[in-house]
Amino acid sequence: MNPVDYLRISLLDRCNFRCQYCMPEGAELDYVLNPELLSRQEMIILLEEVFIPLGFRKFRLTGGEPLLRPDVVEIVGAIAALPQTQDLAMTTNGFLLSHLAKPLYDAGLRRINISLDSLDPQVFDKIIGNRGLSRWKQTWEGIQEAYRVGFDPLKLNVVVVPGLNDREVLDLAALTRDRHWHVRFIEFMPIGNPELFQERAWIPSEELRAAIRDRWGLVESTVRGNGPADVFQIPGAKGTLGFISQMSECFCDRCNRMRLSADGWLRPCLLNESGQIDLKTALRNGTSTAQLREQVRELLAIKPETNFKQRDPGTAGSTYRRTMSQIGG
Ligand code: SAM
Ligand code: SF4
Repeated sequence: MNPVDYLRISLLDRCNFRCQYCMPEGAELDYVLNPELLSRQEMIILLEEVFIPLGFRKFRLTGGEPLLRPDVVEIVGAIAALPQTQDLAMTTNGFLLSHLAKPLYDAGLRRINISLDSLDPQVFDKIIGNRGLSRWKQTWEGIQEAYRVGFDPLKLNVVVVPGLNDREVLDLAALTRDRHWHVRFIEFMPIGNPELFQERAWIPSEELRAAIRDRWGLVESTVRGNGPADVFQIPGAKGTLGFISQMSECFCDRCNRMRLSADGWLRPCLLNESGQIDLKTALRNGTSTAQLREQVRELLAIKPETNFKQRDPGTAGSTYRRTMSQIGG
C-alpha cells in the first residue's frame, strides 16, 4: 500500500455546467447550503492540526466547480503558504479561468487539470448542457490563459463517452504533439448518471491506446504522475497522454488519497462511504483537533478494507447515485 498523503478537498458541490455524465440537466441534487460549507478558516485548522500532522502533504481543490467559490484565491493562498504543502493542484472546468488563472497562479497554485471533453463547440455544449449559451470559446480561452500564465504541467481531462466524444480521441491526443500539455482520458464510470452509463457504456483505455498507436505509434512515457494514470507519449510529442482506467483496471491497491467533501465529511474512498467522518460538525461542536486526529488515524488504518475493490458496473445502487460533484471528484 502507498502511504496516504493526498487529500482532495471539495470547495463546493455546485457547478455552472451540467455535464451529462456528472450532474445532468434535471437531476435533483440537494446542494449543500452556504452555512454548511466548510469555511476557509475551518479548512486550514483541519489541514494544520489534523491532516498535516498525519503526513498529508499533497492537496487538490475540486468540486463541483471550485472556481465558483468566492474565496477560491484566498483558499489557494492559505494552503500554498503552509510550509508543509508539497503539492497544491486544482481540477476545474476552466470556464472562469480566463480571468482567474493569473490570480490563482500569483496566490501559489502551480498545477491545474482542466476538463475538456471536445474540440467541437457544438459537441462540447451538448455534453455540458449549455442552456442556449455556447461555453466552448470561453473555456478554450481559459485553457490558453492558464498556459500563458505558466501552469505547468497543464493537464486536460477527457471523459470518453461512446457516441458523444469518442470520435475525437485522436484530435484530442494530437494536442500533445506540439504542446507541453498532458491529455488524460478517463473511463466513464457509472456514477452520477447511471442511465447514460447503461445506454452508452464505456470504452476501455486499451482500445483508445490501440487507435492512437495505429495512427502515430505510442510509447510508455518516462514522465510519471502522482496519481492513477498510466502515462504514454506519441513518439516525438512534447506532451503526454494519460489513461485513467478505473473501470478496466482496479487501482485501489495504489490509492494514496482521501476526500474531504464541501460540507466537511472525510471519505476514504470515492465509491464506498463506510467509515466516513463528519469533521465539520465535530469541529463546530467543540471536539478537539487532537481527538479528530485520532479518529482520522483510525480511519487511515482501516482504509485498505474500505477501498472499493469489488466493482459491479451493472448495479446502480445508492452509492452510484451520488455524483462526482457531490463527492468531490
Ligand atoms: N468541475 C470540475 C471539473 O469538471 O473538472 C471539477 C469537479 S469534476 C466532478 C472532477 C472530474 O470528475 C472531472 O474530470 C470529470 O470529468 C470527472 N467525472 C465526473 N463524473 C464522471 C463520471 N461519471 N465518470 C468519470 N469521470 C467523471
Ligand atoms: Fe460540473 Fe465538473 Fe461535474 Fe461537469 S464534471 S458537471 S464541470 S462538476
